[in-house]
Amino acid sequence: MSEELKDNGKPVNRRSFLGAGAAAIAGAAIFNVAAKAQSRDNIHAAEHDHATSRLSPINKAIADANPDSELPPDTDHGDVPSFWYSFDLAHRRIQEGGWTCQVTQRDLPVSNELAGVKMRLTAGSYRELHWHTADEWGYVTGGSVRTTVLAPDSTVFIDDVPEGDIWYFPAGYPHSIQGLANDGGEFLLVFDNPMFSEYETFLVSDWIAHTPETTVARDLHVGLDAVAKMPKGELYIFPGTVPGSLEQDRAEVGGQAVVTKIPYTYHLKDIEPTYKTPGGTVHVVDSSNFLASTNIAAAVVKIKPGGMREMHWHPNGSEWQYYVKGSASMTVFEAAGKARTISFKQNDVGFVPSIAGHVIRNTGDSDLVFLELFRANRFIDLSLNNWMRRLPSLMVKEHLNVSDADLKKFPVDKQIILGK
Ligand code: MN
Ligand code: MN
Repeated sequence: MSEELKDNGKPVNRRSFLGAGAAAIAGAAIFNVAAKAQSRDNIHAAEHDHATSRLSPINKAIADANPDSELPPDTDHGDVPSFWYSFDLAHRRIQEGGWTCQVTQRDLPVSNELAGVKMRLTAGSYRELHWHTADEWGYVTGGSVRTTVLAPDSTVFIDDVPEGDIWYFPAGYPHSIQGLANDGGEFLLVFDNPMFSEYETFLVSDWIAHTPETTVARDLHVGLDAVAKMPKGELYIFPGTVPGSLEQDRAEVGGQAVVTKIPYTYHLKDIEPTYKTPGGTVHVVDSSNFLASTNIAAAVVKIKPGGMREMHWHPNGSEWQYYVKGSASMTVFEAAGKARTISFKQNDVGFVPSIAGHVIRNTGDSDLVFLELFRANRFIDLSLNNWMRRLPSLMVKEHLNVSDADLKKFPVDKQIILGK
């Protein structure tokens, strides 16, 4: 009897076989396995008996956008708090020149290492000169921007960052962001503090406004008449003039003699993917190839329709995700048998608790692009199939009830992204 079940390849709860009637129970178990195999990913096997029906109205737009919560796979189990939020639920602070909104631990309580901000600057508009207590990782999602950052050794880095490229500004380093022609830019910012607030940064205007005018005049070697014209409060986002060429700006501040020792931008589009598989590509961007990025490691993942980011986990922390394009379904496995599946769409934020197992499927008919971000120096991961194939075969066979023939089918190497 138990051999028959093993051949079925399905883990069986051995407690089912205790006591009399074991044969009948086991027979039912086989029937269930067959029935489940016919439904998509074991989803809502109970629908056949009317169990999923409703007698009162629902918010259909939300239910339709969240099929994995509405009709979860029946492998989901236990009380797993939501690991989903969306920038499209966040309050937008809109000012002349653009807008901003944020998703922090206030909005997504499980997210305990990083926080995110989205921002739009129209052509010429500035995110005011500022600095802050957290490191900032930036990723342009549309258009292009010009960035500047000053290092403590008085060198400066100025660069234009188009869609798909990245910047990194260490905590305390003062910087600026400005929208370029023709329509400015939109970007994601990620901070290495889960409770970071974009609205609590050190602004040049605020400092000037809250320092005695005679002190400002003395410090900048100007008259009180000049100080009187300076801002009396924060500018934050405000309209400006589209700058001249990058070469002009770089030359004006002192040219090559005052350029930082390392770059603070990363032009991802110019670089070959770290992994390229039949299912998609992954660009790893961390301190190994982007020296400035010392405390946030990233992977930019592109998955083709029907593809899947393999069952894997990260031994060095939690994963904060931003979904750039497309739609996805992610199952997160926590300890003690807990698991939950949640649907994601572009502009959503996802999260995987520290070291938890997870798998991400592209559920749409276009490419899925998402970011895996870590409060870490390096991107590292472990793969389920790779683990199984680095062990003595007897050990794996006795854990998973697999035959020799099936165990040999497990891929040896990390798959990273599986094809359709
Ligand atoms: Mn900043
Ligand atoms: Mn991951």
